[in-house]
Amino acid sequence: MTTRVVVVGASLAGLRAAEELRARGFDGTITVVGDEPHAPYDRPPLSKQILAGKWPASRAELDVSAEGGIDALALDWRLGERATGLDPGAREVALVGGERLGYDGLVIATGAAPRELPGTEDLAGAHTLRTVDDCEAIRAALDAGPGRVVVVGAGFIGAEVAATCRSRGHEVTVLEALPVPLGRALGDEMGAVMGELHRDHGVEVRLGTGVAGFEAGAGGRVERVRLADGGALDADLVVVGIGVTPNTGWLEGSGVALDDGVVCNASTWVAPGIVAAGDVARWPSHRFGELMRVEHWDNAITMGEHAARRLLADLAGTDPGPGGSHEPYDPVPWFWSDQYDRKIQLAGRSSGADEVRVVDGDVADRRFVALYRRGERLAGVLAMNRPRPLMAYRALVERRATWDEAMAEAGAA
Ligand SMILES: Cc1cc2nc3c(=O)[nH]c(=O)nc-3n(C[C@H](O)[C@H](O)[C@H](O)COP(=O)(O)OP(=O)(O)OC[C@H]3O[C@@H](n4cnc5c(N)ncnc54)[C@H](O)[C@@H]3O)c2cc1C
Repeated sequence: MTTRVVVVGASLAGLRAAEELRARGFDGTITVVGDEPHAPYDRPPLSKQILAGKWPASRAELDVSAEGGIDALALDWRLGERATGLDPGAREVALVGGERLGYDGLVIATGAAPRELPGTEDLAGAHTLRTVDDCEAIRAALDAGPGRVVVVGAGFIGAEVAATCRSRGHEVTVLEALPVPLGRALGDEMGAVMGELHRDHGVEVRLGTGVAGFEAGAGGRVERVRLADGGALDADLVVVGIGVTPNTGWLEGSGVALDDGVVCNASTWVAPGIVAAGDVARWPSHRFGELMRVEHWDNAITMGEHAARRLLADLAGTDPGPGGSHEPYDPVPWFWSDQYDRKIQLAGRSSGADEVRVVDGDVADRRFVALYRRGERLAGVLAMNRPRPLMAYRALVERRATWDEAMAEAGAA
Protein backbone atom coordinates (compact mmCIF):
# COMPACT_ATOMS: atom_id res chain seq x y z
CA MET A 1 0.00 0.00 0.00
CA THR A 2 1.33 3.43 -0.89
CA THR A 3 1.98 5.73 1.97
CA ARG A 4 0.66 9.25 1.56
CA VAL A 5 1.90 12.45 3.12
CA VAL A 6 -0.32 15.49 2.80
CA VAL A 7 1.33 18.88 3.07
CA VAL A 8 -1.12 21.71 3.72
CA GLY A 9 0.40 25.02 2.63
CA ALA A 10 2.10 25.20 -0.77
CA SER A 11 4.77 27.70 0.11
CA LEU A 12 8.27 27.81 1.52
CA ALA A 13 7.97 25.53 4.57
CA GLY A 14 5.68 23.09 2.77
CA LEU A 15 7.89 22.82 -0.30
CA ARG A 16 11.07 22.40 1.72
CA ALA A 17 9.35 19.67 3.77
CA ALA A 18 8.34 17.87 0.57
CA GLU A 19 11.84 18.24 -0.82
CA GLU A 20 13.37 16.79 2.34
CA LEU A 21 10.95 13.85 2.32
CA ARG A 22 12.14 12.96 -1.18
CA ALA A 23 15.80 13.62 -0.32
CA ARG A 24 15.45 11.12 2.53
CA GLY A 25 14.06 8.50 0.18
CA PHE A 26 10.32 8.80 0.79
CA ASP A 27 8.75 7.35 -2.36
CA GLY A 28 5.08 7.43 -1.42
CA THR A 29 2.59 10.04 -2.59
CA ILE A 30 3.11 13.62 -1.47
CA THR A 31 -0.01 15.69 -1.95
CA VAL A 32 0.52 19.44 -1.56
CA VAL A 33 -2.61 21.48 -0.87
CA GLY A 34 -2.41 25.25 -1.28
CA ASP A 35 -5.21 27.79 -1.38
CA GLU A 36 -3.30 30.17 -3.63
CA PRO A 37 -3.60 29.39 -7.34
CA HIS A 38 0.13 29.88 -7.88
CA ALA A 39 3.02 27.46 -7.73
CA PRO A 40 5.17 28.11 -4.63
CA TYR A 41 7.00 31.42 -4.65
CA ASP A 42 9.25 33.40 -2.37
CA ARG A 43 7.75 36.30 -0.40
CA PRO A 44 10.79 38.46 0.47
CA PRO A 45 11.03 40.03 -3.04
CA LEU A 46 7.37 41.09 -2.79
CA SER A 47 8.26 44.09 -0.64
CA LYS A 48 11.61 44.65 -2.36
CA GLN A 49 12.58 43.94 -6.00
CA ILE A 50 9.12 43.11 -7.35
CA LEU A 51 7.39 46.03 -5.66
CA ALA A 52 10.22 48.26 -6.86
CA GLY A 53 9.51 47.14 -10.43
CA LYS A 54 13.02 45.69 -10.79
CA TRP A 55 11.95 42.06 -11.11
CA PRO A 56 8.99 40.43 -12.79
CA ALA A 57 6.86 38.44 -10.35
CA SER A 58 7.87 35.22 -12.10
CA ARG A 59 11.39 35.60 -10.73
CA ALA A 60 10.12 34.79 -7.23
CA GLU A 61 9.07 31.26 -8.16
CA LEU A 62 10.64 28.72 -5.84
CA ASP A 63 12.78 25.93 -7.13
CA VAL A 64 14.52 23.03 -5.46
CA SER A 65 18.17 22.06 -5.49
CA ALA A 66 17.56 18.46 -6.60
CA GLU A 67 18.44 17.52 -10.14
CA GLY A 68 15.38 17.89 -12.36
CA GLY A 69 14.02 20.73 -10.25
CA ILE A 70 10.59 20.79 -8.72
CA ASP A 71 9.09 18.37 -11.27
CA ALA A 72 11.53 15.67 -10.18
CA LEU A 73 9.83 15.66 -6.77
CA ALA A 74 6.73 14.19 -8.44
CA LEU A 75 4.35 16.05 -6.16
CA ASP A 76 0.59 15.68 -6.38
CA TRP A 77 -0.38 19.35 -6.51
CA ARG A 78 -3.73 20.58 -5.27
CA LEU A 79 -3.37 24.29 -5.90
CA GLY A 80 -6.26 26.72 -5.50
CA GLU A 81 -7.79 24.34 -2.94
CA ARG A 82 -8.28 25.22 0.70
CA ALA A 83 -8.17 22.83 3.64
CA THR A 84 -11.18 23.46 5.86
CA GLY A 85 -10.84 20.83 8.55
CA LEU A 86 -8.78 18.05 10.08
CA ASP A 87 -9.82 14.76 11.66
CA PRO A 88 -6.65 13.40 13.29
CA GLY A 89 -8.45 10.22 14.44
CA ALA A 90 -9.48 9.27 10.90
CA ARG A 91 -6.29 10.84 9.49
CA GLU A 92 -8.23 12.98 7.02
CA VAL A 93 -7.96 16.55 5.80
CA ALA A 94 -11.21 18.12 4.55
CA LEU A 95 -11.05 20.34 1.48
CA VAL A 96 -13.36 23.23 0.67
CA GLY A 97 -15.31 21.27 -1.94
CA GLY A 98 -16.14 18.53 0.55
CA GLU A 99 -13.43 16.07 -0.50
CA ARG A 100 -11.59 14.27 2.31
CA LEU A 101 -7.93 13.47 1.77
CA GLY A 102 -6.65 10.52 3.75
CA TYR A 103 -3.07 10.66 4.96
CA ASP A 104 -0.50 8.62 6.82
CA GLY A 105 1.55 11.73 7.59
CA LEU A 106 0.56 15.39 7.63
CA VAL A 107 2.71 18.52 7.47
CA ILE A 108 0.92 21.66 8.63
CA ALA A 109 2.55 24.61 6.86
CA THR A 110 -0.25 27.13 6.42
CA GLY A 111 1.78 30.19 7.35
CA ALA A 112 0.14 33.40 8.44
CA ALA A 113 -2.15 36.08 7.05
CA PRO A 114 -2.00 39.86 7.51
CA ARG A 115 -4.18 41.45 10.16
CA GLU A 116 -6.79 43.74 8.66
CA LEU A 117 -7.50 47.24 9.90
CA PRO A 118 -11.21 47.92 10.48
CA GLY A 119 -12.58 50.20 7.78
CA THR A 120 -10.30 48.91 5.00
CA GLU A 121 -12.29 45.79 4.04
CA ASP A 122 -14.00 47.34 0.99
CA LEU A 123 -11.83 50.40 0.63
CA ALA A 124 -10.22 50.73 -2.79
CA GLY A 125 -6.60 51.82 -2.56
CA ALA A 126 -6.03 50.15 0.82
CA HIS A 127 -3.89 47.02 0.78
CA THR A 128 -2.05 44.49 2.86
CA LEU A 129 1.00 42.67 1.49
CA ARG A 130 1.39 38.92 1.78
CA THR A 131 0.80 37.41 -1.64
CA VAL A 132 2.07 38.01 -5.14
CA ASP A 133 -1.42 39.23 -6.03
CA ASP A 134 -1.25 41.81 -3.21
CA CYS A 135 2.15 42.88 -4.49
CA GLU A 136 1.00 43.30 -8.07
CA ALA A 137 -2.01 45.37 -6.96
CA ILE A 138 0.22 47.73 -4.95
CA ARG A 139 2.78 47.89 -7.72
CA ALA A 140 0.10 48.82 -10.25
CA ALA A 141 -0.99 51.68 -7.99
CA LEU A 142 2.61 52.88 -7.67
CA ASP A 143 3.09 52.62 -11.44
CA ALA A 144 0.30 55.17 -11.88
CA GLY A 145 2.78 57.89 -10.89
CA PRO A 146 3.94 59.87 -7.87
CA GLY A 147 1.46 59.82 -5.07
CA ARG A 148 1.00 60.04 -1.34
CA VAL A 149 1.48 56.69 0.34
CA VAL A 150 0.47 56.12 3.93
CA VAL A 151 1.93 53.01 5.55
CA VAL A 152 0.12 51.95 8.69
CA GLY A 153 2.40 50.02 11.01
CA ALA A 154 6.18 50.21 11.30
CA GLY A 155 7.03 46.52 11.47
CA PHE A 156 9.37 44.98 8.91
CA ILE A 157 6.80 44.73 6.11
CA GLY A 158 5.69 48.33 6.67
CA ALA A 159 9.28 49.56 6.83
CA GLU A 160 10.25 47.75 3.62
CA VAL A 161 7.16 48.99 1.78
CA ALA A 162 7.93 52.53 2.96
CA ALA A 163 11.53 52.26 1.75
CA THR A 164 10.54 50.83 -1.63
CA CYS A 165 7.79 53.40 -2.22
CA ARG A 166 10.12 56.22 -1.21
CA SER A 167 12.85 54.89 -3.49
CA ARG A 168 10.30 55.00 -6.31
CA GLY A 169 9.76 58.72 -5.66
CA HIS A 170 6.49 58.65 -3.74
CA GLU A 171 5.75 60.79 -0.70
CA VAL A 172 5.59 58.40 2.22
CA THR A 173 4.24 58.72 5.74
CA VAL A 174 4.58 55.88 8.21
CA LEU A 175 2.09 55.77 11.08
CA GLU A 176 2.98 53.73 14.14
CA ALA A 177 0.76 53.50 17.20
CA LEU A 178 3.70 52.60 19.44
CA PRO A 179 6.30 55.16 20.50
CA VAL A 180 9.08 53.40 18.55
CA PRO A 181 9.17 51.85 15.06
CA LEU A 182 10.17 48.17 14.95
CA GLY A 183 10.33 48.23 18.74
CA ARG A 184 8.86 44.76 19.09
CA ALA A 185 11.38 43.28 16.67
CA LEU A 186 14.52 45.18 17.67
CA GLY A 187 13.86 46.79 21.04
CA ASP A 188 13.33 50.52 21.59
CA GLU A 189 16.91 51.68 21.16
CA MET A 190 17.56 50.02 17.81
CA GLY A 191 13.98 50.60 16.66
CA ALA A 192 14.62 54.33 17.07
CA VAL A 193 17.69 54.01 14.83
CA MET A 194 15.47 52.44 12.16
CA GLY A 195 13.10 55.39 12.43
CA GLU A 196 16.03 57.73 11.78
CA LEU A 197 17.06 55.69 8.73
CA HIS A 198 13.64 56.39 7.21
CA ARG A 199 13.78 60.07 8.12
CA ASP A 200 17.21 60.28 6.43
CA HIS A 201 15.40 59.34 3.22
CA GLY A 202 12.60 61.84 3.58
CA VAL A 203 9.92 59.55 4.99
CA GLU A 204 7.68 61.16 7.56
CA VAL A 205 7.59 58.82 10.55
CA ARG A 206 4.75 59.61 12.95
CA LEU A 207 5.00 57.69 16.18
CA GLY A 208 2.39 57.15 18.88
CA THR A 209 -0.20 57.89 16.17
CA GLY A 210 -3.20 55.63 15.76
CA VAL A 211 -5.66 55.54 12.87
CA ALA A 212 -9.24 56.64 13.61
CA GLY A 213 -10.70 55.89 10.18
CA PHE A 214 -10.62 56.49 6.45
CA GLU A 215 -12.41 58.81 4.05
CA ALA A 216 -13.17 57.65 0.54
CA GLY A 217 -13.91 59.67 -2.57
CA ALA A 218 -15.41 58.74 -5.90
CA GLY A 219 -15.55 55.01 -6.55
CA GLY A 220 -14.98 54.24 -2.88
CA ARG A 221 -11.27 55.02 -3.23
CA VAL A 222 -9.31 56.12 -0.20
CA GLU A 223 -8.57 59.87 -0.08
CA ARG A 224 -7.74 60.57 3.53
CA VAL A 225 -6.61 58.81 6.68
CA ARG A 226 -8.12 60.21 9.87
CA LEU A 227 -5.79 60.06 12.85
CA ALA A 228 -6.62 59.30 16.45
CA ASP A 229 -5.13 62.65 17.51
CA GLY A 230 -7.70 64.53 15.41
CA GLY A 231 -5.40 65.15 12.44
CA ALA A 232 -5.73 63.77 8.94
CA LEU A 233 -3.45 62.81 6.05
CA ASP A 234 -4.23 62.89 2.35
CA ALA A 235 -3.54 59.51 0.79
CA ASP A 236 -3.64 57.97 -2.68
CA LEU A 237 -2.55 54.59 -1.41
CA VAL A 238 -2.64 52.97 2.03
CA VAL A 239 -0.62 49.89 2.91
CA VAL A 240 -1.44 48.27 6.22
CA GLY A 241 1.34 46.29 7.89
CA ILE A 242 0.16 45.66 11.43
CA GLY A 243 1.33 42.09 11.81
CA VAL A 244 0.00 38.68 10.93
CA THR A 245 -2.16 35.96 12.42
CA PRO A 246 -1.22 32.29 12.00
CA ASN A 247 -3.54 30.44 9.61
CA THR A 248 -5.06 27.96 12.05
CA GLY A 249 -8.80 28.53 11.43
CA TRP A 250 -9.07 25.24 9.54
CA LEU A 251 -7.74 23.34 12.57
CA GLU A 252 -10.28 24.63 15.06
CA GLY A 253 -12.19 21.80 16.70
CA SER A 254 -9.67 19.21 15.49
CA GLY A 255 -8.08 18.73 18.89
CA VAL A 256 -4.72 20.06 17.68
CA ALA A 257 -3.37 22.47 20.31
CA LEU A 258 -3.69 26.06 19.09
CA ASP A 259 -2.24 29.05 20.88
CA ASP A 260 -0.98 31.82 18.59
CA GLY A 261 -0.14 29.08 16.11
CA VAL A 262 -0.01 25.30 16.09
CA VAL A 263 1.73 24.20 19.26
CA CYS A 264 4.38 21.55 18.57
CA ASN A 265 6.73 19.81 20.91
CA ALA A 266 10.44 20.61 20.83
CA SER A 267 10.93 18.53 17.69
CA THR A 268 8.01 19.94 15.61
CA TRP A 269 5.74 16.98 16.44
CA VAL A 270 2.07 17.88 16.93
CA ALA A 271 0.17 14.59 17.23
CA PRO A 272 0.56 11.05 15.82
CA GLY A 273 1.44 11.42 12.15
CA ILE A 274 1.37 15.24 12.30
CA VAL A 275 4.17 17.81 12.30
CA ALA A 276 4.14 21.57 11.72
CA ALA A 277 6.61 24.08 10.32
CA GLY A 278 7.13 27.70 9.34
CA ASP A 279 5.21 30.82 10.31
CA VAL A 280 2.25 28.82 11.64
CA ALA A 281 4.25 26.71 14.10
CA ARG A 282 5.08 27.44 17.72
CA TRP A 283 7.55 25.34 19.67
CA PRO A 284 9.48 25.39 22.95
CA SER A 285 13.03 26.52 22.37
CA HIS A 286 15.40 25.11 24.97
CA ARG A 287 18.07 27.51 23.81
CA PHE A 288 16.04 30.63 24.56
CA GLY A 289 13.71 29.19 27.21
CA GLU A 290 10.55 30.39 25.51
CA LEU A 291 7.73 29.23 23.30
CA MET A 292 8.72 30.64 19.91
CA ARG A 293 6.91 31.34 16.68
CA VAL A 294 9.21 32.82 14.10
CA GLU A 295 8.13 34.63 10.94
CA HIS A 296 11.40 34.36 9.04
CA TRP A 297 12.30 32.92 5.67
CA ASP A 298 15.23 30.93 7.05
CA ASN A 299 13.07 29.34 9.74
CA ALA A 300 10.48 28.21 7.19
CA ILE A 301 13.24 26.30 5.39
CA THR A 302 15.04 24.71 8.32
CA MET A 303 11.85 23.90 10.22
CA GLY A 304 10.22 22.45 7.11
CA GLU A 305 13.20 20.15 6.67
CA HIS A 306 13.30 19.20 10.35
CA ALA A 307 9.56 18.49 10.40
CA ALA A 308 9.92 16.21 7.38
CA ARG A 309 12.62 14.16 9.12
CA ARG A 310 10.52 13.95 12.25
CA LEU A 311 7.53 12.80 10.23
CA LEU A 312 9.58 10.06 8.60
CA ALA A 313 10.56 8.80 12.06
CA ASP A 314 6.88 8.79 12.96
CA LEU A 315 5.95 6.87 9.80
CA ALA A 316 8.77 4.39 10.37
CA GLY A 317 7.54 3.75 13.90
CA THR A 318 10.79 4.98 15.40
CA ASP A 319 9.18 8.09 16.82
CA PRO A 320 9.63 8.34 20.58
CA GLY A 321 6.28 10.20 20.98
CA PRO A 322 5.52 13.24 23.10
CA GLY A 323 8.23 14.02 25.59
CA GLY A 324 10.52 11.61 23.79
CA SER A 325 14.09 12.40 23.04
CA HIS A 326 13.89 12.97 19.30
CA GLU A 327 16.38 15.57 18.08
CA PRO A 328 14.99 18.96 19.12
CA TYR A 329 14.52 21.79 16.67
CA ASP A 330 16.46 24.56 18.37
CA PRO A 331 17.92 27.02 15.87
CA VAL A 332 19.22 30.52 16.32
CA PRO A 333 16.58 32.47 14.39
CA TRP A 334 17.95 34.74 11.70
CA PHE A 335 16.45 37.21 9.27
CA TRP A 336 17.44 40.02 7.00
CA SER A 337 15.66 43.07 5.69
CA ASP A 338 16.64 45.38 2.85
CA GLN A 339 15.71 49.03 3.23
CA TYR A 340 17.20 51.66 0.91
CA ASP A 341 20.86 50.69 0.55
CA ARG A 342 21.01 49.10 3.99
CA LYS A 343 20.97 45.40 4.81
CA ILE A 344 19.65 44.81 8.30
CA GLN A 345 20.19 41.39 9.86
CA LEU A 346 19.22 40.02 13.23
CA ALA A 347 20.35 36.68 14.62
CA GLY A 348 19.06 35.35 17.93
CA ARG A 349 16.63 37.17 20.18
CA SER A 350 16.26 40.87 20.84
CA SER A 351 13.17 40.67 23.07
CA GLY A 352 13.63 40.69 26.81
CA ALA A 353 17.16 42.07 26.51
CA ASP A 354 18.76 43.54 29.63
CA GLU A 355 21.22 45.57 27.60
CA VAL A 356 21.99 46.52 24.00
CA ARG A 357 25.53 47.56 23.15
CA VAL A 358 27.00 48.82 19.89
CA VAL A 359 30.33 47.01 19.52
CA ASP A 360 31.30 47.85 15.96
CA GLY A 361 30.78 50.90 13.74
CA ASP A 362 28.45 53.75 14.57
CA VAL A 363 24.67 54.05 14.42
CA ALA A 364 25.07 57.59 13.04
CA ASP A 365 26.77 56.11 9.97
CA ARG A 366 23.98 53.51 9.69
CA ARG A 367 26.72 50.88 9.64
CA PHE A 368 27.14 49.05 12.92
CA VAL A 369 26.78 45.89 14.99
CA ALA A 370 24.81 45.83 18.24
CA LEU A 371 24.68 42.98 20.72
CA TYR A 372 21.77 42.04 22.99
CA ARG A 373 22.40 40.70 26.48
CA ARG A 374 19.95 38.54 28.43
CA GLY A 375 21.30 37.89 31.91
CA GLU A 376 24.86 36.64 31.51
CA ARG A 377 24.33 35.44 27.93
CA LEU A 378 24.70 36.88 24.48
CA ALA A 379 21.12 36.56 23.19
CA GLY A 380 21.22 38.30 19.83
CA VAL A 381 23.09 40.39 17.31
CA LEU A 382 21.83 43.12 15.01
CA ALA A 383 23.86 44.39 12.10
CA MET A 384 23.33 47.15 9.59
CA ASN A 385 25.54 46.78 6.51
CA ARG A 386 27.96 44.60 8.49
CA PRO A 387 27.30 41.04 7.23
CA ARG A 388 30.64 39.49 8.19
CA PRO A 389 30.67 40.47 11.86
CA LEU A 390 27.01 39.44 11.99
CA MET A 391 28.01 35.91 11.05
CA ALA A 392 30.83 35.86 13.60
CA TYR A 393 28.55 36.94 16.46
CA ARG A 394 25.82 34.64 15.25
CA ALA A 395 28.25 31.77 15.74
CA LEU A 396 28.73 32.95 19.33
CA VAL A 397 24.97 32.93 19.94
CA GLU A 398 24.92 29.48 18.35
CA ARG A 399 27.41 28.12 20.86
CA ARG A 400 25.67 29.84 23.77
CA ALA A 401 28.50 32.26 24.48
CA THR A 402 28.43 34.38 27.60
CA TRP A 403 28.27 38.16 27.43
CA ASP A 404 31.84 38.35 28.68
CA GLU A 405 33.00 36.11 25.85
CA ALA A 406 31.17 38.31 23.36
CA MET A 407 32.77 41.42 24.86
CA ALA A 408 36.19 39.78 24.63
CA GLU A 409 35.50 39.02 20.95
CA ALA A 410 34.37 42.63 20.43
CA GLY A 411 37.55 43.89 22.07
CA ALA A 412 39.62 41.70 19.79
CA ALA A 413 37.74 42.83 16.68
C1 LIG B 1 6.30 40.82 1.77
C2 LIG B 1 7.13 39.91 2.63
C3 LIG B 1 8.49 40.11 2.73
C4 LIG B 1 9.27 39.28 3.53
N1 LIG B 1 10.60 39.53 3.63
C5 LIG B 1 11.35 38.75 4.44
C6 LIG B 1 12.74 39.00 4.59
O1 LIG B 1 13.29 39.93 3.98
N2 LIG B 1 13.46 38.20 5.40
C7 LIG B 1 12.89 37.17 6.09
O2 LIG B 1 13.58 36.47 6.84
N3 LIG B 1 11.57 36.90 5.96
C8 LIG B 1 10.79 37.67 5.16
N4 LIG B 1 9.46 37.40 5.03
C9 LIG B 1 8.86 36.28 5.79
C10 LIG B 1 8.89 34.96 5.02
O3 LIG B 1 8.50 35.15 3.70
C11 LIG B 1 7.96 33.98 5.72
O4 LIG B 1 8.54 33.71 6.98
C12 LIG B 1 7.76 32.70 4.93
O5 LIG B 1 7.05 32.96 3.75
C13 LIG B 1 6.99 31.68 5.75
O6 LIG B 1 6.76 30.55 4.97
P1 LIG B 1 5.60 29.54 5.33
O7 LIG B 1 5.67 28.49 4.26
O8 LIG B 1 5.67 29.14 6.74
O9 LIG B 1 4.24 30.37 5.20
P2 LIG B 1 3.61 31.13 3.98
O10 LIG B 1 4.68 31.62 3.07
O11 LIG B 1 2.64 32.10 4.57
O12 LIG B 1 2.80 30.00 3.20
C14 LIG B 1 1.66 29.39 3.70
C15 LIG B 1 0.80 28.99 2.52
O13 LIG B 1 -0.32 28.23 3.00
C16 LIG B 1 -1.50 28.69 2.37
N5 LIG B 1 -2.65 28.36 3.21
C17 LIG B 1 -3.06 28.99 4.34
N6 LIG B 1 -4.15 28.39 4.84
C18 LIG B 1 -4.44 27.35 4.00
C19 LIG B 1 -5.46 26.36 3.99
N7 LIG B 1 -6.39 26.30 4.96
N8 LIG B 1 -5.47 25.48 2.98
C20 LIG B 1 -4.51 25.52 2.00
N9 LIG B 1 -3.52 26.44 1.97
C21 LIG B 1 -3.49 27.33 2.97
C22 LIG B 1 -1.25 30.18 2.24
O14 LIG B 1 -2.11 30.79 1.31
C23 LIG B 1 0.21 30.18 1.79
O15 LIG B 1 0.32 30.02 0.41
C24 LIG B 1 8.66 38.22 4.24
C25 LIG B 1 7.27 38.01 4.13
C26 LIG B 1 6.51 38.85 3.34
C27 LIG B 1 5.02 38.63 3.23
